[in-house]
Amino acid sequence: MKKINPKYIFVVGGVMSSVGKGVAAASIGKILQSKGYRVENIKCDMYVNIDAGTIRPAEHGEVFVGEDGVEADQDLGNYERFTGQISTRENYITTGQVYQEVIRRERNLEYGGEDVEVVPDIPNEIIRRIKECQQKNNADIIVTEFGGTVGEYQLVLFLEAARMMKAQNPQDVYFVMVSYLPTPSLLGEQKSKPTQTAIRILNSAGIIPDIILCRARDKVADSIKNTISTVCSLDKERIISAPDVYSIYDIPVNFEKENFGATILKAMGLKSKKSGMKDWEKFSKKIKNIKKEINIGIVGKYFNFKSCRDTYISVIESINHASWAHNKRPNIIWLDSEKYEKDPKELKELKKLNGIIVPGGFGKRGTEGMIMVAEYARKNKIPYFGLCLGMQILTIEFARNVLGLTDANSIELNPKTTNPVICTMEDQKDKIRTKNYGGTMRLGACLARLSEDSLSFRAYGKKNISERHRHRYEFNNEYKEDLKNNGLRIAGINIQRNLVEIVEVENHPWMVGVQFHPEFKSQPLKPHPLFYDFIKSLY
Ligand code: GLN
Repeated sequence: MKKINPKYIFVVGGVMSSVGKGVAAASIGKILQSKGYRVENIKCDMYVNIDAGTIRPAEHGEVFVGEDGVEADQDLGNYERFTGQISTRENYITTGQVYQEVIRRERNLEYGGEDVEVVPDIPNEIIRRIKECQQKNNADIIVTEFGGTVGEYQLVLFLEAARMMKAQNPQDVYFVMVSYLPTPSLLGEQKSKPTQTAIRILNSAGIIPDIILCRARDKVADSIKNTISTVCSLDKERIISAPDVYSIYDIPVNFEKENFGATILKAMGLKSKKSGMKDWEKFSKKIKNIKKEINIGIVGKYFNFKSCRDTYISVIESINHASWAHNKRPNIIWLDSEKYEKDPKELKELKKLNGIIVPGGFGKRGTEGMIMVAEYARKNKIPYFGLCLGMQILTIEFARNVLGLTDANSIELNPKTTNPVICTMEDQKDKIRTKNYGGTMRLGACLARLSEDSLSFRAYGKKNISERHRHRYEFNNEYKEDLKNNGLRIAGINIQRNLVEIVEVENHPWMVGVQFHPEFKSQPLKPHPLFYDFIKSLY
């Protein structure tokens, strides 16, 4: 087939945020991929931060780590889970990165004596980055999601970049607006006026949407589609209903029920090369019928007023993928570790759990409670999976209560401990001293070699693995022999730097701690081997 001109789809939000724009963008990627196109998704965030690594997770959600160590917005996780795209820096753009690059170039005299202006130099840099992602990945279609909603001041330069691209190549640039239709409880009917207003705001930026995805509680009524169609001069088939769903994995399937793929391909003048969402349709149907429940506790600390869902989204989805593969419905129970510190009697609520996960985290708050949970899980033989901080917690607990090193700790949590079983990584010391924090942790994919007598080796079915990291502290090798001799198996090592990557408690059904983040690599139809083995041990 003749190589097509790359196409660019921009996904913008109308009315309000948190209505699933990220999952919609991921679903668009998934659908176009299933039609035989090479797709890359990009997330643009409006903040001046260079990346998401320095942002509080309780407010902004998980920091998703890409293969090359980029610390990005959680939406890259959605893209990766839906399309299998391997996320790297090219998939993530922030206002901070754009300005930093323009200013760097100005300082290097790269503007040839011209004055550097917000317009067009900032939009031009946004366009350059989007095109660079297309070229590096040889993509047919780039789906670029803009964070936030139209009408926000900080979105202006991104919209301007998209408008400029459209003006330069009208045949290659398209817009999908994800809007929201509220159903006020007093009226009981859907209202389209906020969406109409959002479309007009987008128009005033010089942009006409090609497709409107209407997020709503229920299916969008025909009469409403007619109204929106008239107001924004779009064929009715381009107004797509996107009602609330049982699971996010229903979304691409539902979009297809409304003929989304064929409609957008037609708009772009492209043909479907193949149709391949059958496995996904089967999967979305299967998970609805799973009955048997398992109770999994996640010991959190980044609670906000709603839930921890966004903060631990990759962990939750990894649990889902693995549980569904075992035909189990996971029931996630949030455990607040600070509660156990206040009253250890509260620990008895752990009895009802089939398994416990201690996920990643930073800082001292709540960690004593986590250590109590690890002790409870070890003594009561409840399966325990420690992710990054959770591995460090497992090690501290083991050192304190099995080796008798009562003040064992991590240097991060108690700099004065006389038994730093978790210590500062050598190359981090200078960074911490000079407060050089942004993007400087041990980040991204690193290799590990597994020992053949380990649970982990059995789970992966191979000796050499690669997983993504995000940490400053590490297992202290000075305690390795002692811990090993007392029943802590060293199951995985990074040979290049002699770093312990996985520990396992012997004589326990399943107590494993990993220094990396396996949750970033789990996919719905390809659960992560360690999550798969963890869930298997629960029943
Ligand atoms: N705070 C710990 C460290 O930096 C663990 C990090 C994490 O859980 N991602 O080593």
